[in-house]
Amino acid sequence: MNIYNTLTHKIEEFVPNVPGKVSMYTCGPTVYHYAHIGNLRSYIMEDVLEKYLRYDGYDVKRVMNITDVGHLTSDGDTGDDKMLKGAKREHKTVMEIAKFYTDAFFADCKKLNIKTPDVVTPATQCIDDFIKVISALIEKGYAYEAGGNIYFDTSKLKEYYVFHNFNEEDLEVGVREGVEEDKNKKNKADFVLWFTKSKFDSQELKWDSPWGVGYPGWHIECSCISMKNLGEYLDIHCGGVDNIFPHHTNEVAQSEAYIGHKWCNYWFHVHHLNTNSGKMSKSKGEFLTVSLLASKNYNPLVYRFFCLQSHYRKSLVFSYENLDNARTAYDKLVSRIAALLNTKDGEVDKEMFDKLKGEFKAAMDDDLNTSNAITALYNVLKADTTAATKLALIEDFDKVLSLGLIEAATKLSSSDAEDIPEEILQLAEERSKARKAKDFALADSLRDKISQLGYVIEETRQGTKISKK
Ligand code: AMP
Ligand code: ZN
Repeated sequence: MNIYNTLTHKIEEFVPNVPGKVSMYTCGPTVYHYAHIGNLRSYIMEDVLEKYLRYDGYDVKRVMNITDVGHLTSDGDTGDDKMLKGAKREHKTVMEIAKFYTDAFFADCKKLNIKTPDVVTPATQCIDDFIKVISALIEKGYAYEAGGNIYFDTSKLKEYYVFHNFNEEDLEVGVREGVEEDKNKKNKADFVLWFTKSKFDSQELKWDSPWGVGYPGWHIECSCISMKNLGEYLDIHCGGVDNIFPHHTNEVAQSEAYIGHKWCNYWFHVHHLNTNSGKMSKSKGEFLTVSLLASKNYNPLVYRFFCLQSHYRKSLVFSYENLDNARTAYDKLVSRIAALLNTKDGEVDKEMFDKLKGEFKAAMDDDLNTSNAITALYNVLKADTTAATKLALIEDFDKVLSLGLIEAATKLSSSDAEDIPEEILQLAEERSKARKAKDFALADSLRDKISQLGYVIEETRQGTKISKK
């Protein structure tokens, strides 16, 4: 498989450290609010990557943290802890907030067919591990105490900005705009490993440490949880592009300073989901969730389909119009598969199966080109082969795409869809065109006509459903 590596800025062949095995780390959610569908775009694409690696025969171990402490409002070590912000907002304790939003995150993942990683660890359960690594960094001369906090000394590294050619001036005017300068830092890029004395007196969660009562910084969580579960040689690390700096840059700095050699070979970053007014973000307060889409009758798997239709390295603009287009395409796909299920003819043609599977693999091997993989899926439907071959291929591709295609089609075909007369299907098709064109008067009159002919038409999460009155 070829994959774009943010570390080298190139598409490279993916070669894990141990043949046949992949160690994979994912930055988990900060559980102070619901995940928005932008966050979930990242997790969907990472899920596809993990599943494709498994499909390709690798034995994958994937680890994810849950950020329940230490992620401050600003990535530049200032502002409140986001968890505390959530607790204040809802008049609950930090741990209540963490539990509620962790459960909500996994419930959303389930709806989107995102597999839970093999290991999921909340940061608050690993405090001893953080203290161990921070102590070693101090001992090796990579960290210092100042004003009560422990900082990582970036001047001790040969290269700090491993992903970019940033310089400190860029940071002053760019990334760090509006961030108050911390006088304790020896170098501008230094970052906090452990907070003890800080202006965040209201921090609720605190632990004893060799440097006083305090709490860990955000970056150290991921380094420690990854190394603890996946060892010193990590194959692939994932996250959204906003994590590249400072989070992943700092993860590399402290991990490599600790182990004394290169840590992770491949960095996989998913580009953002934007709305017309810019990047979707939790801190802006207004954002779209899976539950909101479901309340508007969108099947969450339509959102997954929408994400897979574009490449993970391009930013994606969300609009209801775009989602409606994805829904129409998804529904059509499902009804074509339902028709195949009703036919069920022939045997699996092995040669055709291998050829069409080859197309799918070629798309996925090409830097996870999911939109071409979906084209390969359409080519299956168009192919001159048996229904059995087509269904076997769809089931096979869906191990990776996880669009619930066979399940949705089974539901549709087991409903009384086959018994609907052609005339009604035709009217329903016209009605859906009218709705798409926002001609609601026409859509309503077509619905009435369908009703007069003895059928009910309704929008469900699975798509348009027609049934006999
Ligand atoms: P957070 O919960 O803020 O720690 O973010 C969880 C994940 O979502 C991280 O991998 C982020 O990089 C990613 N992320 C944040 N905003 C977006 C967005 N608008 N589109 C895609 N991914 C995002
Ligand atoms: Zn992380």
